[in-house]
Amino acid sequence: MIAPGATIGIVGGGQLGRMLSVAAAQLGYKCHIFDPGEHPPAADVAALHTRAAFDDIDALRSFGAAVDVATYEFENLPVGPLTELGDTLRPGTRSLAIAQDRATEKQFIEQCGARVAAWRAVASLDDVQAAVAVLGLPLVLKTRRYGYDGKGQAWIRDAAGAASAWTAIGEEPAVAEAGVDFSAEFSVILARWDDGRHATWESPRNEHESGILRRSTVPAGDLVESQVAEARAAALRIAEALGHVGVLTVEFFASADGPLVNEIAPRVHNSGHWTIEGAVTSQFEQHIRAILGLPPGVTGLTRGGAMMENLIGDDVNRWPELIAERGAHLHIYGKDEARPGRKMGHVTRVVR
Ligand code: AMP
Repeated sequence: MIAPGATIGIVGGGQLGRMLSVAAAQLGYKCHIFDPGEHPPAADVAALHTRAAFDDIDALRSFGAAVDVATYEFENLPVGPLTELGDTLRPGTRSLAIAQDRATEKQFIEQCGARVAAWRAVASLDDVQAAVAVLGLPLVLKTRRYGYDGKGQAWIRDAAGAASAWTAIGEEPAVAEAGVDFSAEFSVILARWDDGRHATWESPRNEHESGILRRSTVPAGDLVESQVAEARAAALRIAEALGHVGVLTVEFFASADGPLVNEIAPRVHNSGHWTIEGAVTSQFEQHIRAILGLPPGVTGLTRGGAMMENLIGDDVNRWPELIAERGAHLHIYGKDEARPGRKMGHVTRVVR
């Protein structure tokens, strides 16, 4: 166990780093943010900020020497430089490397005995056309790397659309994935300790709009709940195979054939923000507990359930009405510019 007073390094300074820092501060730890931005949201609430590029090896080395344990809150990080942080980095670079490449990720998930939508790796328009012939339509192309919130994705709905979809994703190495006719989307949020202890929360039902999470709700309803046991077992096998330490999120489609993994995130996740007020221990506190080797916190619901709604772009201008709403828990991330599609905050309503 690493005692209060220690410093936790967080690579990435977005809203996830901000909420991790708040949880760490409550337990008496200091956070040190490593982020190239001038005013990253996490730096407002953390003790220290190193402003340097994610591939600046000298800066990472000094950062590593200044912290007692390190973690990351952002997936699109170059893996090589992070190895400078050695064993203090939790989770390790293996979780990151696998989650960063959609083809490697899908292979890994399948090796763990979990199912994904039918897919193929593609690297040319010929490959895309071959994938259409094998997988059928509709299908979605997703760049292997650097996609998030629906970016780097293009749907093919008829044979004539293959070329334009290939152009739309920038003719980059990608996966072609069969469109899943799902009834709902949900996630398993799991925390794992290095001795194999683990904890999960109630699984939220997640609704997306334009590829971006709009809201997460617990309880998720019968349809999702009937698939949660299988999904949790799959998520745990994935966490164990990764040797993951900290929070891991696995996103699922609830399909007619049972749960299919969409993707994994080796970190706390937007679909777990409801745990701050809706669960006894939040995903942020639990991540801190897991990486420091502290005992697991209880993950049950505080009340009957919770609904978390994201404030995307201009939605944040609703803050005067939300701050006045009785019982609504408003979180604003302190980002300077409310660009369309940018996650600016969220609001959670706990249900009796
Ligand atoms: P992703 O960035 O892969 O999480 O995709 C963002 C959202 O697009 C998902 O949460 C789904 O709502 C939708 N989506 C992605 N892949 C598929 C698929 N194979 N079939 C149906 N919908 C999908």
